[in-house]
This record gives sequence, C-alpha cells and structure tokens, in this order.
Amino acid sequence: MKKEDFYNILGLKRDASQDEIKRSYRKMALKYHPDKNPGDKKAENIFKSAAEAYEVLSDPEKRRRYDQFGHEGLKGVESRGFGNFEDIFDAFGDIFGGGGSIFEEFFGGGTRAKTARRGASLRCDILLDFEEVAKGAEKTIEITKRSVCEECRGTGARKGTSPVTCPYCKGKGEIHQRQGFFTLRTTCPKCKGNGRIIETPCDRCNGQGLCPKKSKIKVSVPAGIEEGTRLRISGQGESGENGAHPGDLYCDIHIRPHSIFKRHDCDIICEFPITFTQAALGCNIDVPTVSGKYVNVEVPAGIQSGDTLSVKGEGFPSVRGYGKGSLLVHIVVEIPTKLTPRQEELLREFSELEHKNVTPKRKSFFKKLKEYL
Ligand SMILES: [Zn+2]
Ligand SMILES: [Zn+2]
Repeated sequence: MKKEDFYNILGLKRDASQDEIKRSYRKMALKYHPDKNPGDKKAENIFKSAAEAYEVLSDPEKRRRYDQFGHEGLKGVESRGFGNFEDIFDAFGDIFGGGGSIFEEFFGGGTRAKTARRGASLRCDILLDFEEVAKGAEKTIEITKRSVCEECRGTGARKGTSPVTCPYCKGKGEIHQRQGFFTLRTTCPKCKGNGRIIETPCDRCNGQGLCPKKSKIKVSVPAGIEEGTRLRISGQGESGENGAHPGDLYCDIHIRPHSIFKRHDCDIICEFPITFTQAALGCNIDVPTVSGKYVNVEVPAGIQSGDTLSVKGEGFPSVRGYGKGSLLVHIVVEIPTKLTPRQEELLREFSELEHKNVTPKRKSFFKKLKEYL
C-alpha cells in the first residue's frame, strides 16, 4: 500500500512553518480522536496517520530527510512506534497546552488524582465585652485541629521507616487500563493516587500523617468590631495532607450584652434615670463610660423623659480607623412611688400653684382637646 504524503495528511504546503504544522496537527488530533468518533475506523486511521506525520514534520532532521527522499528516507530512522493513543499523547501532549492529557480535555478533567489536598478550614466563636470592643483585644483561643504528626513528621510511616513506592502503579498514582486501541487512566486503588504506600504505619497518627492537636492561637480583634463580623486568620486551619497548604481559621465575633449599655453603630446608648425634681430643676449627673471612667453631664432644667444628651467621642471607635461615636444618654424621668408626709405636703402645695401656672405643653393640649370636641 502506498503511503500518503505527510503534508497532504496534515493539509499543509511544503513550506509550512513549525507553527503551522503544530496547529494543523492539534486541530486534526482533536477532530479525529476516537472518543469523539466511537467505532469510526476511518477516523482512527486518520488520527494515527496524523500523529505519524506530525512526528516526522515536527523534527527538523526527519523532515529534511523526508523532503529529500520521501518515505524511503525515513527507513532506519528511529520512530517512536505509537502503540496506542496514550503513547501519542505522552509524546505530543505538550502541544495541547498546560501539560494536561488530552483525556482531561475530553473528559472534563479529573482523571488524575490530586493527592496534595489543602487542609480543612475551621470556625470558632469569640465572645467580647463592650470594654474589649472599645479598646480592641488580643484573644487567645484554644482549638483542637488536625496538625502534622510530630512522631512521623507527617509521612505517616513509623519512626525509622519511610513510605515505599506503590508496587501496583509503580509510583505513578494511576493505572492505565488498555481497552482495545486506547487507554483509560484511573486512580490507583492501592495507594489512592499517592504513588507511595506505608507498610508500617505510624502509631500515633495511624499512618494519616496528621493527628488532632490542641493549639493556642492568638487573634487580634480590632477596636470597634461589630457583632457577627467574621475574621479570617490565614493558614491557621487544619494542616494539609502531604505538605499541602493549611486551611484558614474563621472567627465569628459575638458581643456579650451589657447591663447598662446598648450599641447603635459606633454610638453607645445609656439609659439614665433622674428624679422629676432633677428634671425640673436641672442637675449634673455622672454617667459611666465603656472606658471605665465617669463623665460629668449637665442636665438642663426642664428636660423631658426620653430626651437624649450626647457626649461626643465616648462611643466606639470606627472599625475603619477614623472617628469615634458618641455616648447617648437617654433620660428617664422617674415619678416617686412612695412619699414621706412632708414630701406629700410640699407637693400638694406645689400642685395648687400649678393650676394657676399651667405648663406650655398642657396649655396647647387642652386647647387642641377643646377644638376636637
Ligand atoms: Zn504519625
Ligand atoms: Zn499505587
């Protein structure tokens, strides 16, 4: 049978550049791959011839001999002798980019085992007091996480021994199952893709290479942090297998409710009870702050229950680093529930005066009431 011209097979002119040869072959290999043309003998043959043509034309020395003497010129020249598709792709896999096998391109990837799995991420809760939120805090948390085993330094093999090459896959981590003309790759079931197996496992970690370990981790919490914030501590999760990167640690921030303070954004709200005489006459009150000190606040005469006095700069710092909130003093006027006889006497006297001297709010209320009825 006469052999077809290599340039014809790849649809190229005699002066085709290396780049053109590569591109043309790539296109044909993808088009005529048997997985895309199941049972199609013709496609299989084209696919094989294209590989053969590419092998010669991509090699300057072989191409020169072929150009000069045709197929005859290649006699005695060593050929790779492709036995199956796997060989073809092993030989020319680099032109498919990324070093990946063409099977990954067809099967959507994933036939090769990934043995270096990243460590798991962990989550924990951190409970803060208002005082800690105001200043920022260094918290030490203790968690148990899978860490590199100290006994075997993560190899999983008993001290004094080391993992050996998997005899089943000869260290490749995958096995090739030949099915007729082409080959399927599967992860080696014996070593699970590791390529190495442990004959005598480490006692402490049972050959896992990782074992649970209590760890203390310092977490610095910025001042002004809000309830529900999640802090990410990079690399403080569990250790990865086979030296892979560790996971991260996520800390969920919670703020313990305070007995006298409430929070609104960066402001701190404090309800402050005063007597009705203090409200009527005005007074000075000492209001607590989250810094632990008291701040003296002047209450003007005639303040009403529910009025708010604001003390700038006594709130939480902004977590973004600029400015501070206010301390908002919510005034609650308390009406006495028990009176001494002397207090009652004075109040009755006050009450008589009140009828003659009606307060502004009452005045407008009764005026509106009159119009309403
Ligand atoms: Zn161990
Ligand atoms: Zn194996």
